[in-house]
This record gives sequence, C-alpha cells and structure tokens, in this order.
Amino acid sequence: MLTLPTINKHTSRDLKTLVEFVNVFCSNRHTGNDRSRFDLKTHDIPAIFGKDIRLCPSCSRLLAHALTKRSHCPMHPKPACKHCPSHCYSPAYREGIRKVMQYSGKKLVLSGRLDYLYHLLF
Ligand SMILES: [Zn+2]
Repeated sequence: MLTLPTINKHTSRDLKTLVEFVNVFCSNRHTGNDRSRFDLKTHDIPAIFGKDIRLCPSCSRLLAHALTKRSHCPMHPKPACKHCPSHCYSPAYREGIRKVMQYSGKKLVLSGRLDYLYHLLF
C-alpha cells in the first residue's frame, strides 16, 4: 500500500490532486448515479486525500487508472502529460481524465480552491 511517507512529495501532491478532481467531477455531474466508497488496494485514499470519497463505478475505474499510472510514472521530473513522449493512459481513460480536468479545473479555480499548477499534472 502506498502511503504518504513512502511516496515522494511531488507524487503525493499529484495523487491528491487527481482524487480531488475526480471527486469534484463525480459529485457534481453524477449525482444520480449509484456512488459508493472509493477503495483501492494499492493506495490508502484517506491518507492521500484526508478522507474517504464516494464515486460512481465509471469514475472509480478512471481514478484507479489515473492513480496507478501516476504512481508508476518513470519520468523524473515528470513532464506535463500532454508533452510526454510516452502516452501511458489508454485512449478511453485519456479522454475521460481530460474531461475531468477541464470541468473540475474550472470549478476549483472559480471557487479559489486551486492553489497548484494542475495543468502540469496532465
Ligand atoms: Zn462519476
């Protein structure tokens, strides 16, 4: 299990950002869907994000994919994903996370809650 002390600061910040983005997206866009506690064997979500989150099945799959890919990114320092020579996301997830970034990025900036350069993440 990956917890904060075992992963570097940069990675943990990115993981937290990914959780926040998918959380904002799903809790705004998928309120009618059946959402349950997001649980990932390889990552301790409350340790990364500070609390549990609830996601619908498709957002759960997307976030699991994104967290796994980010945790195993071999690039140091990691470039913005769009400038990376190795596109590690599969095309469907790539499109999915792009939508999430667009939607949640706008929302978080407008609400003043985005204090990091999230576009460096993806
Ligand atoms: Zn969702």
